[in-house]
Amino acid sequence: MIFKTTTNLFFTALQGLSLTVKHLFGARKSRQSKDIRAKDYFQQQQGLTTVQYPQEKMPIPEVARYQLDVEIDDCIVCDLCAKACPVDCIAIEAVKATEAIGETSDGSVKRLYAAKFEIDMAKCMYCGLCTVVCPTECITMTNNYDRSSQKLTDLIYGFSTMSDQEIADRKSEWTQFQAAKEAAKKK
Ligand code: SF4
Ligand code: SF4
Repeated sequence: MIFKTTTNLFFTALQGLSLTVKHLFGARKSRQSKDIRAKDYFQQQQGLTTVQYPQEKMPIPEVARYQLDVEIDDCIVCDLCAKACPVDCIAIEAVKATEAIGETSDGSVKRLYAAKFEIDMAKCMYCGLCTVVCPTECITMTNNYDRSSQKLTDLIYGFSTMSDQEIADRKSEWTQFQAAKEAAKKK
């Protein structure tokens, strides 16, 4: 009986030790980065699985939903993305133009200036709804995921390219335009 127990203990200790030695030697090489589309992507568990970020980065799918980007020249300032956002992290301020101010790359006519277009990525939950509703497909989710910061306010991204002076001028133009229209009506 004592002999059997001692033998069992010995073999159990040997099994544990062999597992430790296997991992010890396995840890001499790093896990290789592979394309997510590779058939054996989820089987590549040989070697160290710790990624030496930021020197090494895990491969991510092309359709990954990370940092939002806005091609502001293609934005018609319709506000649909802000309305669709479940956490209200898109803030848009539109200023009306007195006439068409151009076209987007898909031919949509632009009639509003984007005085403010901010996205608070600290609040964003990466649902992608804003990208789905955008009529000109100018708001997109990119593969960029490493914009970490110690200040939450650094995660508010502004996409408007208008200066304060430009905004004031465009607002003033609209007010004058409206006033002239009202005056013409009264005549
Ligand atoms: S991805 Fe979702 S949470 Fe983030 S800004 Fe778009 S709608 Fe809002
Ligand atoms: S839905 Fe698209 S076009 Fe409309 S305000 Fe948002 S980004 Fe601009």
